[in-house]
Amino acid sequence: MDPSFGTYQLAEEHEALREAVRSLAENEIAPHAADVDEHERYPVEAREALVKAGFHATHIPEEYGGEGADAISTCIVIEEVARVCANSSLIPAVNKLGTVPILLSASDQLKKQVLPSIAAGEAMCSYALSEREAGSDTASMRTRARLDGDHWVLNGTKCWITNAGESAWYTVMAVTDPDAAKPVDGISAFVVHKDDPGFEVGPKERKLGIKGSPTCEIYFTDCAIPADRIIGEPGTGLKTALRTLDHTRPTIGAQAVGIAQGALDAAVAYVKERKQFGRAVADFQGVQFMLADMAMKIEAARHMVYVAAARAERGEPNLGFISSAAKCYASDVAMEVTTDAVQLFGGAGYTRDFPVERMMRDAKITQIYEGTNQIQRMVMARSLLKG
Ligand SMILES: Cc1cc2nc3c(=O)[nH]c(=O)nc-3n(C[C@H](O)[C@H](O)[C@H](O)COP(=O)(O)OP(=O)(O)OC[C@H]3O[C@@H](n4cnc5c(N)ncnc54)[C@H](O)[C@@H]3O)c2cc1C
Repeated sequence: MDPSFGTYQLAEEHEALREAVRSLAENEIAPHAADVDEHERYPVEAREALVKAGFHATHIPEEYGGEGADAISTCIVIEEVARVCANSSLIPAVNKLGTVPILLSASDQLKKQVLPSIAAGEAMCSYALSEREAGSDTASMRTRARLDGDHWVLNGTKCWITNAGESAWYTVMAVTDPDAAKPVDGISAFVVHKDDPGFEVGPKERKLGIKGSPTCEIYFTDCAIPADRIIGEPGTGLKTALRTLDHTRPTIGAQAVGIAQGALDAAVAYVKERKQFGRAVADFQGVQFMLADMAMKIEAARHMVYVAAARAERGEPNLGFISSAAKCYASDVAMEVTTDAVQLFGGAGYTRDFPVERMMRDAKITQIYEGTNQIQRMVMARSLLKG
């Protein structure tokens, strides 16, 4: 065997990246995390710090002005930022979600039009698939796009759009052929800019967690965009949107691992300090077993996330099972671990004086977005049963 090959370990560059992001996250993002949550405000300090360090959209290839980071590196960035602030981790995560459809299927000309501004940190990108009546059942969407001369004209409403209002670019899926035999073949993907006529952002949703990341409806009222802003061929948009999720569900897994790790770290520190019955609560075996279970599950989730990311990076086919498994398992672990972390803080954990309360609220969304965990289990089961 090649002695330079590290058996089943990350590259030194990955560990160096983790160190760099952790340091930035602890020094420049963590101090604002509670305030961002409390005041439901966008994490501007994090955006500035991430852009300055080049961590806001590391996945964009060098030819479009980006860092060209691999999928595991992007997961590490998201994980380390989420460890201190889930809201801020949505900056690199949603930039990836919004741009993967472009990277997978757009013309080179469209890539050149959109990606450099995101790579430079001048613009962010959101992903607009969901509608009020088309959540898990994405193919039942109603937003329409029709070709009118040299423009596509969009009409409809998308909902739950992460970072809406902060992003300049939006990848939007819309029905272009309502008579298609299969609805999936009648949907196309487009890139819309915030300044396009007929585009508008609605009010922010009032949420349980990730309160610093705006989630809004976006409206298209005879919104006219140049014809060449279509991503790929007409009728391929939903396939591109779903293929995108194969690449980005591991990033939600990474966010979940980060939130869980942050909660575990806080719990370990707390139980060593907190004294009851004349000793640190960390001395009690019942507490130790909880910590061991939390750490064990996080470690398993982290490995699955990196494997899913690595397989996506290699361009392997049939990513559905592993990317769904990574997202689903990691987010279930995040929910369990953050709930246990609150438990280990006792009454203090139930207050906003300690970060585990926020982490428990933030963990919940990882079980819901980019497909609920029921949908992930459907994807996994389909893959198991199809052979
Ligand atoms: C904070 C937040 C941010 C989001 N960001 C984005 C974004 O940036 N872009 C975007 O496009 N979308 C986004 N979403 C939307 C998100 O992906 C959807 O909410 C999610 O896919 C579920 O759709 P739904 O809410 O309509 O639930 P529904 O589909 O109505 O599901 C309701 C329940 O039924 C279950 N269910 C549905 N179908 C099945 C089935 N076949 N079998 C078993 N159970 C089923 C679901 O699992 C769920 O428990 C976001 C959502 C939230 C809350």
